[in-house]
Amino acid sequence: MSTEARERLQEWGRTPGAVALLTDIDGTLAPIVPTPDAAEVSGELRGLLRRLSGSCRVVAGISGRAAVDAFRLVGLEEIVYYGNHGFEILRGGEVEVVPEAAPYEEKVEELQRRAREELGPLGAFIEEKGITVSVHYRNVPPEVGERCKEFVEHEGERLGLRITVGRGVVEARPPIRADKGTAVRKIVKEYKPEKALFIGDDTTDLDAFRELEKLREEGTLKETLRVGVKSDEGPPEIVSEADLVVNGVEGVEEVLRVLADGS
Ligand SMILES: [Mg+2]
Repeated sequence: MSTEARERLQEWGRTPGAVALLTDIDGTLAPIVPTPDAAEVSGELRGLLRRLSGSCRVVAGISGRAAVDAFRLVGLEEIVYYGNHGFEILRGGEVEVVPEAAPYEEKVEELQRRAREELGPLGAFIEEKGITVSVHYRNVPPEVGERCKEFVEHEGERLGLRITVGRGVVEARPPIRADKGTAVRKIVKEYKPEKALFIGDDTTDLDAFRELEKLREEGTLKETLRVGVKSDEGPPEIVSEADLVVNGVEGVEEVLRVLADGS
């Protein structure tokens, strides 16, 4: 870490009540492992996050995982979790869907139920993710896969949902923008910090970097710090758009320690 970056973090650490600490989880707090279920946050890092949650304005974990899954992984009740593409918030043990997505909850449920009735018997796997639903057809004959796509596209359109097709999977979700950038904006508007830092390692984290910049340019935030976690698989922008670049989870630990100790 450069002397300049260290001094900046130390300065932030002296007035933690003005600071929002926002962070990605996988690849940032927990090393990437072959199976997501085996990911772990170290006791050391958890201890630092606990300390910071007591002093900072807010500490939030923002993840592509379901919010409950993010909570299970980090294991701290003191922090706020944004999960599932920014559609869900978990705090104080309760999961809520963001207000703009709430009107679509019933429609997603209806699609889920219809897919289970129509496509389940054909061998498709219906993954229920709360405010989004995924129909997996990798392990069925191609004609069944086509049927799955057509069915979800047709029903999704009827219900006013957004449909995305991936490799062997078709997903339906509310037709609103929700990503790490919208999550960052919501947290800043609600908790009103003067300064905010975001730490991340991957493409979806760039939405958070860019939103932080907007919040600073419009004057909502006085200062921002984009911390990029460098890795072999990460996109080049996570380094080029960052104010501070660190190496792996160990580098993140150093950032949190300087912030927590103010030295
Ligand atoms: Mg990540």
